[in-house]
Amino acid sequence: MLIVTSISELQREISRVSPSQKIGFVPTMGALHSGHESLIQRAVTETDFVVVSIFVNPLQFGKNEDLDQYPRPLEQDKAICKQLGVKLLFTPSVTEIYPSEEETTIVNPPTAMTSVLCGKYRQGHFQGVATIVTKLFNLVRPNVAYFGQKDAQQVAIIQKMTKDLNIPVKVQSCPVIREKSGLALSSRNQYLSSEEKEKATLLYRSLSKAQRAFQEGQRDCQKLLQIVKEEFRSPQTPLNKGGLNLDNSLNKESLNLNDSLNKKGLNDINIQLQYVEIVEPKTLQPLTEISDSALIAIAAYIGNTRLIDNVILTVTKPIIALDGPAGAGKSTVSRRLARELGYVYLDTGAMYRAITWLVMENNINVEDEESIASLVANVQLELLPSDNLQIPVTVKINGQDITKEIRTPRVTNQVSKVAAQSAVREKMVALQQEYGAKGGIVAEGRDIGTNVFPHAQLKIFLTATPQARAKRRLIDLQNQGESNIDLDTLIKEIEERDYLDSTRAIAPLKKAEDAIELITDNLTIDQVIEKIKSYLILV
Ligand code: AMP
Repeated sequence: MLIVTSISELQREISRVSPSQKIGFVPTMGALHSGHESLIQRAVTETDFVVVSIFVNPLQFGKNEDLDQYPRPLEQDKAICKQLGVKLLFTPSVTEIYPSEEETTIVNPPTAMTSVLCGKYRQGHFQGVATIVTKLFNLVRPNVAYFGQKDAQQVAIIQKMTKDLNIPVKVQSCPVIREKSGLALSSRNQYLSSEEKEKATLLYRSLSKAQRAFQEGQRDCQKLLQIVKEEFRSPQTPLNKGGLNLDNSLNKESLNLNDSLNKKGLNDINIQLQYVEIVEPKTLQPLTEISDSALIAIAAYIGNTRLIDNVILTVTKPIIALDGPAGAGKSTVSRRLARELGYVYLDTGAMYRAITWLVMENNINVEDEESIASLVANVQLELLPSDNLQIPVTVKINGQDITKEIRTPRVTNQVSKVAAQSAVREKMVALQQEYGAKGGIVAEGRDIGTNVFPHAQLKIFLTATPQARAKRRLIDLQNQGESNIDLDTLIKEIEERDYLDSTRAIAPLKKAEDAIELITDNLTIDQVIEKIKSYLILV
């Protein structure tokens, strides 16, 4: 990893990157934590040359804010970047970025977006952010820039700015990373005492409560906001003498007074909700009723530290498309995910099995393409959610439940012959797309994200190294009593299968351009599910 501090060195290094390489960029203010790390890791998997910048930008701090106290553990940050595979780290000084004593040019995004939410309390903040981000984009010229959804207003403003100014960069928003307690990670969490940290869980707890109400059908924004405010008023929240203070002059106070409040006990911790608002996620304009998607954003003081958080609420349930090489855990993950989300697991295999069963039930020869084509033309095929993990989906054909019948060896032996027929494939793809139109499905299978659902809101390419997949397979085989198979043979087999899968003519294994690659080597199924759920929040 190369570390540069001057603009000229940065430009020299960027000019050396081959045009065929994709540049990924993660701008930060340092004091890196797992939230930053998640952006860097995503950049490393999705692009060829990752640049990180660390710069505490004075232009985005208000007069009474925490510019001087802001943590700057540079050596530690360098080690993190190096370990994550960053190629170039840019750590300029303030004078390098803003050299002249004169006023600098300020980028001013639309007032409608900068005067709401945090903008109301942090005047000039988003102009400062827009200015530094524009400068950094001009210097780094990234193909993709990664930002955290933690700062939802920042992401929306930068997306609008790059579109309006025709800056050729894809602005990728990434999920909020939280502690187990729900507290969103932030460099400012370092200001919190342990008691304050415990109290700070109130932000996400209150948002989650509103989110639950939304999931249960509440669409009225006033009512949802009330739920959050109630949570701040509830008796388990120790309030200061003044009680809840929703619209006082907090913006005049400093962000970190560093006074004696920090030293007070748990019951004396000052908790003040600065704002909670529900807005349209892209334009940030206030909503009264949620008809599609909404951002519910909050800022609150815990002691003297100002924290922010948000969640996205979406009415239409998305399509989740999972693809990836054999043995990476696709079907286990798909089933679990569908069950946990209450979505339909679109088991494409079960669909082909059902048709095969019908063919055999009608005594049609599995090679008789013509008869099979007319049989499938009017077939009624239903997939229904199943609560039982052993049974991926309930399957009905022409009204008859055949969930068990389709798993018999009789069907298994013939299914590939039926599935290979173009009339069957066309009908099944059309049926799958019909399911997709209703939303709320997890679909898994070859070409699912490229051909069947090219517009799926969330595409995951689930993968693992041949070594990791072979180890899992070995354990499975050993559990089934097979003991004379060695790891190297399995690795070889998996590598050969990957090669065949990715080079074959029909529906080759290929990651969709817009799919998120998830490498499962060191992840448990639970961790994979949690990761996918966190991506889901953003769609
Ligand atoms: P900062 O250093 O605070 O300017 O943050 C740099 C980037 O990291 C921004 O895009 C933030 O939104 C992102 N970020 C900060 N905290 C988190 C978090 N908890 N989860 C995800 N991204 C985050």
